[in-house]
Amino acid sequence: MTTLCDAHNHLHDVRFLAELPGILSTMHDAGITHCVVNGTCEGDWGHVMALARANPRMILPSIGLHPWKVSTRSDNWLEKMTSTVIRESGRVFIGECGLDRWMHKPNIEEQKKVFISQLALASEYNLPISIHCLKAWGTLLEILKTHHRPQRGFLLHSYGGSPELVPELAALGGYFSFSGYFLREEKKKVHEAFRRIPPDRVMVETDAPDMLPPEPYRKYSLATSATHSLNHPANLLSVVEGLAKILEIRESHLRSLVSENFHSFFPVELS
Ligand SMILES: [Zn+2]
Repeated sequence: MTTLCDAHNHLHDVRFLAELPGILSTMHDAGITHCVVNGTCEGDWGHVMALARANPRMILPSIGLHPWKVSTRSDNWLEKMTSTVIRESGRVFIGECGLDRWMHKPNIEEQKKVFISQLALASEYNLPISIHCLKAWGTLLEILKTHHRPQRGFLLHSYGGSPELVPELAALGGYFSFSGYFLREEKKKVHEAFRRIPPDRVMVETDAPDMLPPEPYRKYSLATSATHSLNHPANLLSVVEGLAKILEIRESHLRSLVSENFHSFFPVELS
């Protein structure tokens, strides 16, 4: 049977906390076998690791310093990250990290320094790295071309770059994951970009609780009015359905493609 894996989400997010047991069992019932849970700052790495320990069959932990959180870092953030990487020896990944010029007052020089350190750590241990990039593609390309990259490649999560950049990023080792937010009609450029992605480099993700897909792709929703506008991670099923339409391929074919790609990029013990 084909497994269905979410390449990028934030299940540890406090907004999910009260409903987490129900969310996990809904994901399980929907056939989602694995998901990569991404920390974004030192304060949440412990939560990500604890969640992975409690759900070792489903959750793959990843810890990163997100560009939006760069200013919150302590002096020894990199030592903390490195010691977790060494202690877990291959069972924790790097990210979410990256570059963002879209945010209010982007501190791009700081972001570059922090991202380059995380890229170096991922390269040293050949770990999967999940990269966030908004309006900083030129800078990202330059860094990727001039620094060591993990031998296994890297994941551009929720890829929203131009179609023209795809071949160059793919040649450098890029994988690209599609999120439900981009199922919106007006996101034609992203659809075009995904038509250009080599079949062995495409993945799917929810980025839940964010990146809510448009109607009618919100098949799953959270229980209370306070959480109703959040993206349920079981909406991954709709992400596959919508991307199959965009690529004009059968959903079953896309399912096996993304599953194969997930398993060749992320080291997952299949049991
Ligand atoms: Zn994310």
